[in-house]
Amino acid sequence: MSFELRDRDLLGRIGRITVKGKTLETPAFMPVVNPLIETILPNRLRKEFGCDILITNSYIIRNHFQDVPDLELHKLLDFDGVVMTDSGAYQILVYGEVEVTQPEIIDWQKKIGSDISVILDIPTGWDVPRETVEYTVEETLKRAEAALPLIEDTPNLWVGPIQGGKHLDLVAKSAKKIGEMPFDVHALGSPTEVMERYMYPVLVDMAMTAKLNAPIERPIHLFGAGHPNIFAMSVAMGYDLFDSAAYALFAKDERYLTNRGTYLFKDLQYLPCGCPICRNRSPEDLRDMPQHERQRLIAEHNLHVTMAEMQTVKQAIYEGSLWDLVETRAKGHAEMTSALKTLSKYSKYLEEGSPGFKGKGIFYYDYHSLAKPEVIRYQRKLVENYRKPANKDTRILLTTPNRKPYSRNQGFKKLKKELKEYSDRVEYCFIAAPYGLIPENLAETYPTSQYQIAEPLDYETIQHTVGNIIEYLEKHPAKTIIAYKDTPLDQELIKQLDGKYPAVLINEIDNDAKEAILKQLTTI
Ligand SMILES: [Zn+2]
Repeated sequence: MSFELRDRDLLGRIGRITVKGKTLETPAFMPVVNPLIETILPNRLRKEFGCDILITNSYIIRNHFQDVPDLELHKLLDFDGVVMTDSGAYQILVYGEVEVTQPEIIDWQKKIGSDISVILDIPTGWDVPRETVEYTVEETLKRAEAALPLIEDTPNLWVGPIQGGKHLDLVAKSAKKIGEMPFDVHALGSPTEVMERYMYPVLVDMAMTAKLNAPIERPIHLFGAGHPNIFAMSVAMGYDLFDSAAYALFAKDERYLTNRGTYLFKDLQYLPCGCPICRNRSPEDLRDMPQHERQRLIAEHNLHVTMAEMQTVKQAIYEGSLWDLVETRAKGHAEMTSALKTLSKYSKYLEEGSPGFKGKGIFYYDYHSLAKPEVIRYQRKLVENYRKPANKDTRILLTTPNRKPYSRNQGFKKLKKELKEYSDRVEYCFIAAPYGLIPENLAETYPTSQYQIAEPLDYETIQHTVGNIIEYLEKHPAKTIIAYKDTPLDQELIKQLDGKYPAVLINEIDNDAKEAILKQLTTI
């Protein structure tokens, strides 16, 4: 198989999976299709909804169509895209067991022409004792090992599932061990219950643990993730494939999906959507329909918004604004906002996955934006790599002027000119949220020349900025003078430095400031 990366942002990526001559762009959502209850006919999925992949259950198909000679999956479903098949593991989760052995279901998936296929793993489930979780991890690994001789030399892509539930040490072990085996794709099992209970922070820890321990070059699937509001965050964590029956199941309960959350259809006064279903209809039009007809149309709407959200996510990767989208979507549910805070713990890894400059200015909305790769990377590079010019033994920290780039500010240029006799000795650095210190030399480079930050600064942003400044000053000691204005950021910096360096309060970068700085320069 080939998995070719085209673009990336955070740990998210746009890739191309090639299987059996078919190409699939990722991240991709696959609707769950039950061949016995076809809510939307599969032959409409590609053309009308843009679904290039679907997932169906090989176990159910085997139970119902085993005796059909030469059964071929794509023909049965009337779908010419990529077909992924689950193995019946979900039925193990629900019913405790299945009436099929692993060799039988592997053989069946090969026979019916599945493109992406799953071994018969043992899902961890939820609310089970740790011993049971350990068993599901060990048993899945054993089955994976046993499956290897059965799946080698097949054109199918084979999925090695990762178990462990909320026990992160077991998730890590499961991901690492199965990652050592030659599977094409990995998948994190059992997050469905976590999502149904809105335990998004737990999901983030599970998903990041699996991602960081599985081979990064292989596509990874998040089983059962189908609500569009979770896509941006899941893709940011490096997940490539998603499946769910939510579009159809929610429709049965007349629940209407949007990327900001779910509505009960009966509560809708308007249809806040431009999809082909909603565009020319009002809620009354749908209410007047027979129930099954209304539910079918809600399912179609649900699938349209699900697919549209994936396009939005891909565009965000392309333009390098995925974190902004994650922040926006996280506002849709309090638990999603909590999950965003959990995700911020992993900002180091998100930064490592992100490419550099994508030509776009950066917005900082509030402290959630502190996890942006540009902030993390800037500070890391400053502390690790930046060296002040060798001849300069004194640093002057200055409150930032109003306009960027700071080094071109008229007042600053004038000050520099008037202190010209010290120019060989002095390096100017700006005190700037959220970065920390911006040496004059870096003030016209990315990302410090192209960003906007919402003011007034919040508490966390001030603490973060001051923390960055102190980290830099401590790692690179030099004579330092601080010329500060009375902003909350400056006040906090002065407070935390506690008199360690001489500091002068200035109103503007003007003549008075010059005199005050000069006085310090002559005594330091
Ligand atoms: Zn719609």
